[in-house]
Amino acid sequence: MEREIITTKVGIVGGGPAGLMLSHLLSREGVDNVVIDNREHDVIANTHRAGILEAGSVRMLTDTGVDGRILDEGYEHSGIYLRFNGENHHIDFKKLVGQTVWLYAQNEVFVDLAAARRRDGGDVRFGVTDAEVLDHDTDTPKINFTDADGVAKQIQCEVVVGSDGSRSRTRDLIPGRVKHTMRYPFAWFGILCNAPFSSDELIYCHSDKGFALISQRSETVQRMYFQCSPDENVEDWSDERIWDHLDDIVTGPDGYQLKRGEIFDKVVLQFRSFVQEPMQHGNLFLAGDAAHTVPPTGAKGLNLAFGDVALLAPALVKWAKTGAREDLDTYGERAAKRIWKSQNFSYWMTQMLHTPAEDNPFLLKRQLGELEAVTSSEDSMKYLAESYTGWPYDLPELMEA
Ligand SMILES: Cc1cc2nc3c(=O)[nH]c(=O)nc-3n(C[C@H](O)[C@H](O)[C@H](O)COP(=O)(O)OP(=O)(O)OC[C@H]3O[C@@H](n4cnc5c(N)ncnc54)[C@H](O)[C@@H]3O)c2cc1C
Repeated sequence: MEREIITTKVGIVGGGPAGLMLSHLLSREGVDNVVIDNREHDVIANTHRAGILEAGSVRMLTDTGVDGRILDEGYEHSGIYLRFNGENHHIDFKKLVGQTVWLYAQNEVFVDLAAARRRDGGDVRFGVTDAEVLDHDTDTPKINFTDADGVAKQIQCEVVVGSDGSRSRTRDLIPGRVKHTMRYPFAWFGILCNAPFSSDELIYCHSDKGFALISQRSETVQRMYFQCSPDENVEDWSDERIWDHLDDIVTGPDGYQLKRGEIFDKVVLQFRSFVQEPMQHGNLFLAGDAAHTVPPTGAKGLNLAFGDVALLAPALVKWAKTGAREDLDTYGERAAKRIWKSQNFSYWMTQMLHTPAEDNPFLLKRQLGELEAVTSSEDSMKYLAESYTGWPYDLPELMEA
């Protein structure tokens, strides 16, 4: 089949946070790249996902000239509450480690990144089909795809980045890969509702009726989750049943009450812990969820995608400008340190807060002992605060204004 040829330096499969941030940073340094994504722009812009950004992720958006909208429309949080035995325990990030996080929805991050690519003349093609990576173990990799108008095209490049998310197909191209997977016997039931804030900061709530996260979106829209079975049926949950169940989870001697409102979105969110190693083969590199996913309890998914890019972008720039491949070829090893720290933190938070599947009171009591130990020790709270707000990036040159 005759294909229209597009020539570039780096071909990027997947225009989520990882792919678009990488594209933005490369373009800033004059490294030509093309991004393809099989979803339409407006579909991604309306898909609700993560909501908490580490301070380093915020700086990647503001200090590299993506957009400063987050500073006007996001909400800075200086901590979270751990709630157990029906009482709140504040983990004050600012006091403990001098850092904060920002509430700013992933779809807004996407809108800002896509707009920045348009503004800067970036080549991002949404709504493509049949993406296929070829010859990634040679110096002339290619990506075949059909564009949104049905025209068959081929990207001829020197490096391919697979940032195609948790159902990645590019990761299947890495021979000898090892897939480290941990499954959990529960999922999250997520709602979006029209209601005012139920709390000034997020509440992570442990109870014998399951875990709940009282999260937020804006002054008028709230996001909340409760622990459910992985095969839970959304249809079985009326609005009233959801609110009553959430109230049962958060109830306590302090009289805390959720502010109810009309629920306009209900979803069962499956999750797992997953890492694929290695993250590279020849001239194919993985970034973001394509290489790893975490349970959402630690709010790490999107941040970890940016963490990969903070290492991969400078390595690609150095290679493009000087031909030196060392940073590129050690990218996976270097990224693994942050990935496994994040895996550990997300796993720890998940195990500490979710009601165990096994009906054994010892396990619940042990969790309460752990929560008591964490909230009564400044050192333990510091570990939580440092992990939640994120470890610093050590290659900041691309982030200089
Ligand atoms: C429902 C849901 C809720 C979540 N909630 C949270 C949360 O609360 N906190 C948190 O930290 N994390 C959360 N996450 C995880 C977080 O959203 C991800 O970690 C983050 O999106 C990773 O970014 P990414 O760019 O690596 O992947 P993605 O955002 O998944 O981007 C990958 C892109 O690749 C495209 N793509 C896929 N296959 C192809 C193909 N064959 N050809 C072309 N394009 C392709 C997709 O359309 C997509 O746009 C959630 C995830 C989901 C699914």
